[in-house]
Amino acid sequence: MIPVGFEYERPDSVAAALALLAEHGEGATILAGGHSLLPVMKLRLSAPEIVIDIGRLTELNYIRVDGDGADSHVAIGAGTRYRDLVISDVLAAECALLPAVARTVGDPQVRHRGTIGGGLAHGDPAADIPAAVLALDGEIVLRSPRGERIVPITEFYTGVFSSVKEPDELLVEVRVPRTGATGWAYEKFTRRSNDWAIVAVSVVTLPSGRRQLGLVNMGGTPLRALATEAALEQGKSIEEAAALAAEGTEPPADNAGTPEYRRHLVTVLAKRALKTASA
Ligand SMILES: Cc1cc2nc3c(=O)[nH]c(=O)nc-3n(C[C@H](O)[C@H](O)[C@H](O)COP(=O)(O)OP(=O)(O)OC[C@H]3O[C@@H](n4cnc5c(N)ncnc54)[C@H](O)[C@@H]3O)c2cc1C
Repeated sequence: MIPVGFEYERPDSVAAALALLAEHGEGATILAGGHSLLPVMKLRLSAPEIVIDIGRLTELNYIRVDGDGADSHVAIGAGTRYRDLVISDVLAAECALLPAVARTVGDPQVRHRGTIGGGLAHGDPAADIPAAVLALDGEIVLRSPRGERIVPITEFYTGVFSSVKEPDELLVEVRVPRTGATGWAYEKFTRRSNDWAIVAVSVVTLPSGRRQLGLVNMGGTPLRALATEAALEQGKSIEEAAALAAEGTEPPADNAGTPEYRRHLVTVLAKRALKTASA
C-alpha cells in the first residue's frame, strides 16, 4: 500500500523538532527509525499531515551514567538505536538486561534502524524493550515547549498503542537504575528466531535486592508479574512464585496461541528466567 500524501520536515535540533510539533499539533507525527510508523502509514492506519524526522538528531543518541552516588542512573537518549544498546560497554556494566533484550528485537536491519524511544512511544504490547524498562522501574522523560516532565513507566501506558504522551511532547530520554552486570535474564518465546514474542519474561534484580519481572504480550500494555514478585519477597521458592506469573494478566488470542496457552507459557518462562537470574 502507498501512504496518504504528507509533508516532510527534518529539523536539525530537538528545539526545532519541538517547535514543529507545537505548530502542527495532532496533525504531526514523529519519525525515528520508521520501522513501526511506516508500516502503519502504508496500511493507512495513520495519515499524518506532516512527518517530522528526528532520525539524524545525534543529540538524542547517547548512553551514559548521570547523577551522583545513590541518585545516579543510566540515561539513554531516545534516538539510540537497538544496535547501540547491544554493543554498549556502559550498559554491559551498568544495566546488562537491556542489551540482552535489544539483541532479540527483530533482525539486524531492524536493530540498526529502530530506536529505544520509538519502541517505547509506539506502545506495542508485543514489543520487547517496554516490558524490560517496566521491570527496571524506569522513567520516561518527555519534553515540549511547556517544559520537561518525568513519567514513571508504571504510569506511562494507558492501553494498546496509547500512553500519557501529549501530541506536542517528544520522548527525549529513558532512565533506568544501575542494576549491574548480573542478576537478570530474558526469556523470549518465538516460533522463528527473528519473530516477535508470543510471550516473553524479563527478570532483573534491583539495587535493593528485589527481583522484578516484566511480561511481554500478556495484556494490552507491558505488565509486571506482581504476584510472583510478592511471593519472592515472602521467601517462596522460584517454582511457587513462577506459578503465579499469569495472575492479573489478560493475554490476547491470535494465531500464535490462545490466552490459556500464554498463561501456561508465562509460568514456564518465568521459572526459567528466575533460575537463570539467580544462578
Ligand atoms: C520486520 C520487523 C520486525 C520487528 N520485530 C520486533 C521485535 O521482535 N520486537 C520488538 O520489540 N519490535 C520489533 N519491531 C519493531 C521495531 O522495533 C520498531 O522499529 C520500533 O519498536 C519502533 O522504533 P522506531 O525508531 O522504528 O520508531 P518509528 O517507527 O519511527 O515510530 C514509532 C512510533 O513512535 C513515535 N515516536 C518515535 N520516536 C519518538 C519520540 N522520540 N518521541 C515521541 N514519539 C516518537 C512515532 O511517531 C510513531 O508513532 C519489528 C519491526 C519490523 C519492521
